[in-house]
Amino acid sequence: TSLFAAVELAPRDPILGLTEQFNADTRSNKVNLGVGVYYNDEGRIPLLKAVRKAEQARIDAAAARGYLPIEGLAGYNRAVQELLLGADSPLIAAGRVLTAQSLGGTGALKIGADFLKRLVPQAKVAISDPSWENHRALFEYAGFEVVNYPYYDAATHGVNFAGMIAALESYPAGTVVVLHACCHNPTGVDLTADQWTKVVEVVKARQLIPFLDIAYQGFGDGIDADATAVRQFADAELTFLISSSFSKSFSLYGERVGALSLVAADKEESGRVLSQLKRVIRTNYSNPPTHGGTVVAQVLTSPELRAEWEAELGEMRERIRAMRAALVAKLKERGVARDFGFVLQQRGMFSYSGLTAAQVDRLREEHGIYAVSTGRICVAALNSRNIDAVADGIAAVLK
Ligand code: PMP
Repeated sequence: TSLFAAVELAPRDPILGLTEQFNADTRSNKVNLGVGVYYNDEGRIPLLKAVRKAEQARIDAAAARGYLPIEGLAGYNRAVQELLLGADSPLIAAGRVLTAQSLGGTGALKIGADFLKRLVPQAKVAISDPSWENHRALFEYAGFEVVNYPYYDAATHGVNFAGMIAALESYPAGTVVVLHACCHNPTGVDLTADQWTKVVEVVKARQLIPFLDIAYQGFGDGIDADATAVRQFADAELTFLISSSFSKSFSLYGERVGALSLVAADKEESGRVLSQLKRVIRTNYSNPPTHGGTVVAQVLTSPELRAEWEAELGEMRERIRAMRAALVAKLKERGVARDFGFVLQQRGMFSYSGLTAAQVDRLREEHGIYAVSTGRICVAALNSRNIDAVADGIAAVLK
């Protein structure tokens, strides 16, 4: 008999399953708002001009394809640190920050989780309720028990901050707390700067282990504004982990460009931590790929390309905001009584729209508009050609 005879069929990924269903739909006016990708107004994933130029330069240089160091490109890692913590960060100057180039944000979370499993094997991991659908599985596969802390409050379309703080205060020291640093996925609902100050205070007092996940830097209010949480943790003299990703901000999804950064107590400790993190990487995939990291480093360190990228990132951010405003206005125009003003307060690619699973089903079946059953829609998939149809559909299912 086959070695694999007893292998059970795993459940389908709910979001990828939705896209399969969308692809099989023959209606010409169908719209997929279930995705987690930024599309431009033509409905395409953009290839940024700054990226194209850096790629051309790389091809022209005809560079050999040797292995990168285990932790990746030094110039890339430094640029990541400066983007997260600020170019003038005293932590960087003191050699307290170590960074490893990773396979996207997911890869950063995974090497961070594997590293933590050896460091604090008995710890529990707390993630927000709800959270990015891969957080729980990723930490469970790394061997952790995962719990949820309260986050989203459906009644107010805001954060259940009291519930969140009470949960954090109830955790034993050494609990790993995964925090979305900006543009919360899936809700779009972020903490204010003052709320972050309180979270930092509680994390510090309770000796929790902060693991900040920042996958959308620049998609909320801007590169520095979106790093507020990261910089508050840095200013608080805490030791912590940060997973970051350029999938969205550089529109480089398939190139798998991310990073894991850790802030240690001093330079000597940072060297020891890096040596152990390198073992985790070496035994997983040895070293990261060259292309994406080289391109991102080139863009971030060349003043001209950097300015071009920041402008393109700003355009993506502004387009999402314009789509939020247009959706709210168009729903109002159609006589929808419910106030959708909360959509304007949300940040990043997503919106918890408040639609029920039954309404999402009707949207799909009757209007060819695909959303996640939780009501999450990808605002970055709206454009000037599909937004009227989406507003019509939502207005119809709310009647
Ligand atoms: N963290 C969060 C919160 C995300 O939303 C995502 C993916 N969209 C990731 C991590 C993973 O990013 P990547 O696609 O770069 O692996």
